[in-house]
Amino acid sequence: MKVLKFGGTSVGSAQRMKNVAKLIAGERKIVVLSAMSGTTNSLVEISDYLYKRNPDGANEIINRLSMKYMEHIEELYGTEEYKQKAKELIKSHFDYIRTFTKDLFTLFEEKVILAQGELISTGMMHLYLNELGVNAVMIPALDYMRTDKNAEPDPIYIKEKLTRLLNEHKDADLYITQGYICRNAYGEIDNLQRGGSDYSASLVGAAIGAEEIQIWTDIDGMHNNDPRFVEGTSPVRQLHFDEAAELAYFGAKILHPTCILPAKLNNIPVRLLNTMQPDAPGTLISNVMEKGKIKAVAAKDNITSIKIKSGRMLLATGFLRKVFEIFENHQTPIDMVTTSEVGVSVTIDNRKHLEEIVDDLKKYGTVTVDENMVIVCVVGDLEWDNIGFEARVVQAMKDVPVRMISYGGSNYNVSLLIKASDKRRALQALSDHLFNNK
Ligand code: ASP
Ligand code: MG
Repeated sequence: MKVLKFGGTSVGSAQRMKNVAKLIAGERKIVVLSAMSGTTNSLVEISDYLYKRNPDGANEIINRLSMKYMEHIEELYGTEEYKQKAKELIKSHFDYIRTFTKDLFTLFEEKVILAQGELISTGMMHLYLNELGVNAVMIPALDYMRTDKNAEPDPIYIKEKLTRLLNEHKDADLYITQGYICRNAYGEIDNLQRGGSDYSASLVGAAIGAEEIQIWTDIDGMHNNDPRFVEGTSPVRQLHFDEAAELAYFGAKILHPTCILPAKLNNIPVRLLNTMQPDAPGTLISNVMEKGKIKAVAAKDNITSIKIKSGRMLLATGFLRKVFEIFENHQTPIDMVTTSEVGVSVTIDNRKHLEEIVDDLKKYGTVTVDENMVIVCVVGDLEWDNIGFEARVVQAMKDVPVRMISYGGSNYNVSLLIKASDKRRALQALSDHLFNNK
């Protein structure tokens, strides 16, 4: 069985919901839905007002949101009978949300409010499919999705419960369930963090040993370089999970590494698809590595590099530890690292504690800071015994000043640090050399 997840924009209007209903027709599958776009943000706003003891502010948003849902209902359903059922559904959720405007408001109540978005969108879709005559069965995420005491998903529990629930409805045409929401180790309503619906889909897929997990969004799939800066990019059809993980840091429109981990571990391919172009092949992420192939180039802006040069580093032990400790003390993650015998360069993207970090580092040597830099990364099967790829990357950069080069941290990536003003021509040169044989 396949698992299909649709994000907030894909179910963002009555028309979009109808579209999703068409896409999910056919063989039996599990459909994971996000809240309609904007809803979770509104629920966060409502909670903020309630934290600040401002029930009027909260009520205003609640009223506006529930009115919007009433409009969706008019448009979505064809019969009075189903319009009525849907109105009751919406009313019950909003009445419930309103009960929280009267009392003490804590994290616990907030999580209950945040859960309503997915409960509403799946409830609406369930009714709509039933109206169309599809035997769609709701499998409530709150009955099987659970996190443990460390707030990590509990795969054994999820598998056992979900399998049982599916077995109780063997004759269903289709299963619908909520993304994002779960219960925690204490049985309270909780969630898998913002954007967590992809994680839900991956966990559901892993739990049932799905044949494929499909993540449907409304954007065109991944390209091998950034089309906003580069001419002649093409779609990436296939990626290894590890390549996808490298690209995730660069804000490439793919899944977060932790979200795809259950799929990777259970060897379940994840396919990224576009609801606007449902017949396009999309991007397949799996444990299959295309041998020797460079897949994509991506860039990350607003990088600061810091170089510490010290004669004392020569043959000294513990020098790197002391340097790294300073970053740790200021809660600043390091992204790229390059070293020589007498110095080390690192990059950070969070400049909040830059001044303090530099002050502390001065104890150990001469410190140089370069701001407004860009990391460009080349991702693919770059196994060290594959020869020639370094030469191609460096050759592409022959007219671009390069501040740092890093390779060997993984088999899938070469990173280069350049000036922001060189970004466009660097990306174009890499595309020309690596993909377009110019
Ligand atoms: N509705 C949730 C959010 O907006 C979860 C998701 O869409 O993935 O964060
Ligand atoms: Mg989302």
